[in-house]
Amino acid sequence: MQLHQAQLIRQWSDRLTFFCADAGELSAESIQRLESRGVVVDPTPVVEVTGEPGAVNAVVLEDGRSVAVDAIFTAGAHIPRDHYLRGLDLDREETPVGSFLKVDAMGTTSHDRIWAAGNVANPMATVPMSMAMGSFAGAAANSALVTEEFDLAEAGQNK
Ligand SMILES: Cc1cc2nc3c(=O)[nH]c(=O)nc-3n(C[C@H](O)[C@H](O)[C@H](O)COP(=O)(O)OP(=O)(O)OC[C@H]3O[C@@H](n4cnc5c(N)ncnc54)[C@H](O)[C@@H]3O)c2cc1C
Repeated sequence: MQLHQAQLIRQWSDRLTFFCADAGELSAESIQRLESRGVVVDPTPVVEVTGEPGAVNAVVLEDGRSVAVDAIFTAGAHIPRDHYLRGLDLDREETPVGSFLKVDAMGTTSHDRIWAAGNVANPMATVPMSMAMGSFAGAAANSALVTEEFDLAEAGQNK
């Protein structure tokens, strides 16, 4: 994912340094691919960021070098606020960007009365995608309730 992010940011600037100390072992092909578009790949750990809040000006490396920068992009982690669901033991999907609720196209989870939509189930979802997922999940929940009403009525327990 960090390699992907570096490639995305290369679209915005032709002056990009990828400080990759925390990116795991990079293959020669990966490094060559970044360098093919002028990206500087530096494996030295960053130990300090200098400048003012909102106006960084350099990063200091473990070997003492200071590299001037205009901006820094970090590879953040997606952590859904779903701690309130933990006790339900719902199935999860392990993805390259974290662990998220496993749902089908209608938002159905592994529990037959729980549906999920948006970033809690899909870290890549944006606002319109989350809204669409919510529409499907709402329709599925309503359909389940309607079905239950008729099932109960046919069984003589409800009208
Ligand atoms: C930095 C950043 C930039 C983004 N830019 C864009 C963009 O430009 N365009 C775009 O389309 N999308 C963008 N997104 C993505 C977008 O924000 C999400 O896709 C969208 O907000 C997901 O909606 P959601 O309803 O799933 O989650 P959220 O919008 O996060 O809503 C979840 C809500 O649940 C609340 N909540 C959490 N726990 C509890 C609890 N226990 N009890 C009650 N309430 C609770 C939270 O406070 C929150 O209000 C961006 C996301 C980030 C992080």
